Amino acid sequence: MQDELRDLYQEVILDHGKHPRNLRHPPDANRMAEGHNPMCGDQLTVFLKMADDGTVLDAAFEGQGCAISVASASMMTEILKGKSEAQARALFATLHAVCTGDEDEDEHAHAHHNLLTGLDDDLERIQILAGVREFPVRVKCATLAWHTMTAAMDGETVATSE
Ligand code: ZN
Repeated sequence: MQDELRDLYQEVILDHGKHPRNLRHPPDANRMAEGHNPMCGDQLTVFLKMADDGTVLDAAFEGQGCAISVASASMMTEILKGKSEAQARALFATLHAVCTGDEDEDEHAHAHHNLLTGLDDDLERIQILAGVREFPVRVKCATLAWHTMTAAMDGETVATSE
C-alpha cells in the first residue's frame, strides 16, 4: 500500500473508531440483523430503514467491537444512505473483492460496473477501508457490518463474518 493511503487508512479508521457515526437504534427501522465475528469478538446490530423501492433511507448500528469493525460499520452507514439495495450490494462486493485480492478477476465487479457509476466518493472510501487487507486477520472485522447489512436485506437476522 502506498504510504499516503496507509496514512489515510489509519486516520479514517481512528476517527470513525473513536467517533462512530449513526451509532443508534432508529425506531422506524424495518430491517435489522445481528452480526458477530467470533475471531475477534465483534458483535454488531445493523438497522436499516428501506423504502418500498429498495432505497436505503436510513442506516445505523449498535454494538461493540474492535476499532476496525466499528469504523467500518460507521463508514458503511454513511455510505449506504440514499443508495439502492443493488448499489449497496455492489459496494460490498467491491470491498470484498479488494480485501480478498480478487479485484481483477471478480466477475461481479464487472456486472456491478453500471450500478457504481457516479459513486466515486463512495468507492474512494471503500478503497480506504480496504486498506485492511494489509492485515489479513482483520478483514473479517472490516467486513462484518457489510455481511450483516446484506443479511438484513435478505431478511435474515443473524450473520457471521466470513
Ligand atoms: Zn475485530
